[in-house]
Amino acid sequence: MAKDFLKGAKSDYDVVVIGSGLAGLTSANILARAGYSVLLLEHHYQLGGMATWFKRAGGHIFDISLHGFPMGMIKSCRKYWTQEIADSIVQLKGVRFENPQFSLETTFNREDFTRLLIEKFRVEPTTVQRFFDTARGMNFFDDQGKTTRELFEEFFPGRSDVVRLLMEPITYANGSTLEDPAITYGIVFSNFMSKGVFTFEGGTDKLVTQMRDELEKNGVDIRIRTLVEKIEVDANRRVTGVIVNGQRIGCRTVISNANLKSTILELVGEQNFDKAFVEEAKAVRLNNSSCQVYIALKPGVGFDYCGDLLFHSEHQGFDIDAMLSKHVSSRTFSFYYPSTRPGSDRFVVVSSTNANFKDWASLSDEDYEVQKKELCDSTLNCLQRYIPDIHEKVDHIEASTPKTFQHYTRHWNGASFGTKFEGLKVSKELPQQIGGLFHAGSVGIIMSGWLGAVNYGVIVCNDVDKYLTTATAK
Ligand SMILES: Cc1cc2nc3c(=O)[nH]c(=O)nc-3n(C[C@H](O)[C@H](O)[C@H](O)COP(=O)(O)OP(=O)(O)OC[C@H]3O[C@@H](n4cnc5c(N)ncnc54)[C@H](O)[C@@H]3O)c2cc1C
Repeated sequence: MAKDFLKGAKSDYDVVVIGSGLAGLTSANILARAGYSVLLLEHHYQLGGMATWFKRAGGHIFDISLHGFPMGMIKSCRKYWTQEIADSIVQLKGVRFENPQFSLETTFNREDFTRLLIEKFRVEPTTVQRFFDTARGMNFFDDQGKTTRELFEEFFPGRSDVVRLLMEPITYANGSTLEDPAITYGIVFSNFMSKGVFTFEGGTDKLVTQMRDELEKNGVDIRIRTLVEKIEVDANRRVTGVIVNGQRIGCRTVISNANLKSTILELVGEQNFDKAFVEEAKAVRLNNSSCQVYIALKPGVGFDYCGDLLFHSEHQGFDIDAMLSKHVSSRTFSFYYPSTRPGSDRFVVVSSTNANFKDWASLSDEDYEVQKKELCDSTLNCLQRYIPDIHEKVDHIEASTPKTFQHYTRHWNGASFGTKFEGLKVSKELPQQIGGLFHAGSVGIIMSGWLGAVNYGVIVCNDVDKYLTTATAK
């Protein structure tokens, strides 16, 4: 008989959280800590969403999205999770760029970027300072019409090398392009520049295990392998429950950590919203997806220091189409040393490229396998420049594509970073359409990535708390 993953669940909760990405996990934790009954439903067998890992024979562990996040994670984890979690966050010091325009290594913070822009790129010191101050001063309420391209033109006209230095890492971090609003660039770039790039020592498995322990301690009812099929809404447009694994569970509020568009158009259904809102939701553009190649070296075999993050490109200048193309000319390598998981003797490399879902979804099964193999081969050949004897050292190699990300997270088109900017407004307005329905998860570029997702999970909790308190008082 099939296992009942909802066995023992209650018939009603204050809050149902759909999805255990970092936003969903954080919302569940805060609301349970505040005393609400919380049910967390995750269709996968593992918590974490995109913040995930997998294991392979021979003791290999691969992290998917542990390349780096801003220092703000320390404060958010301390406040909304535990001191222990915050204490494992450490800085990555070696960010490298290797491309036809320049070769350099940096600590990726304002001080070092200022030095590089002035000494290596020969930009006027006052321009550099004005640029950083402008980016730092940007916020959500600023002019949203100005694009990142216009921002760069204002400060660094005709300087494709400077644009590449400033933009390439952010494009990898959240999929944003030169045509996106400048504020999305300014906010995310400044978050990184404040102190550099950070990682979680011990790996994603340790982080998610610690988060799970904390959720259990706070009384969250956690259910894996539970797919929510419907969010139930009554005639007064209020959330009343969910249908999960074919079973109804009642609730007063739902926080959906699932993709914004699938929440509105599939889980709730467009008939439950104002027409204009549905049109707005349909017009929201998804962000791009990714391919990755996971490379584990033989036990105990290593490589000389290569930096922590390496932005490699063979392309002349910053070019988003080239970065998304299946004819890969740009890759970001994350080098993981044994210190990533103290006590381990393993060296691992993960290569990431931005990718279009349609390029992979349209392939036959046979072509799909052939092209994944080609991606692995070309990645190893490229990596040979930095680790000359990589071919002899490899113990395990495999690739993931946008189809993989769609399969595991149910994000339409395997979107790695949620939606483009316009998704933020739709996400925030959801509760005005349906009482008790909230969304927390990667949207609008600003609210994506580990830090953005955690912080959006926090913001939404305030609204849920207000709603529950008001509804109880009535
Ligand atoms: C290849 C890659 C590399 C990345 N690298 C970095 C990085 O280095 N630094 C960084 O900060 N960010 C990185 N990111 C982005 C970051 O991982 C994500 O922005 C963030 O983890 C997303 O969190 P989230 O809360 O939006 O939810 P998600 O992680 O998208 O999780 C949503 C969850 O909802 C579940 N779900 C969906 N529908 C249902 C349903 N109907 N029923 C039940 N469950 C459902 C899914 O299974 C999933 O677990 C990377 C992303 C990718 C893909």
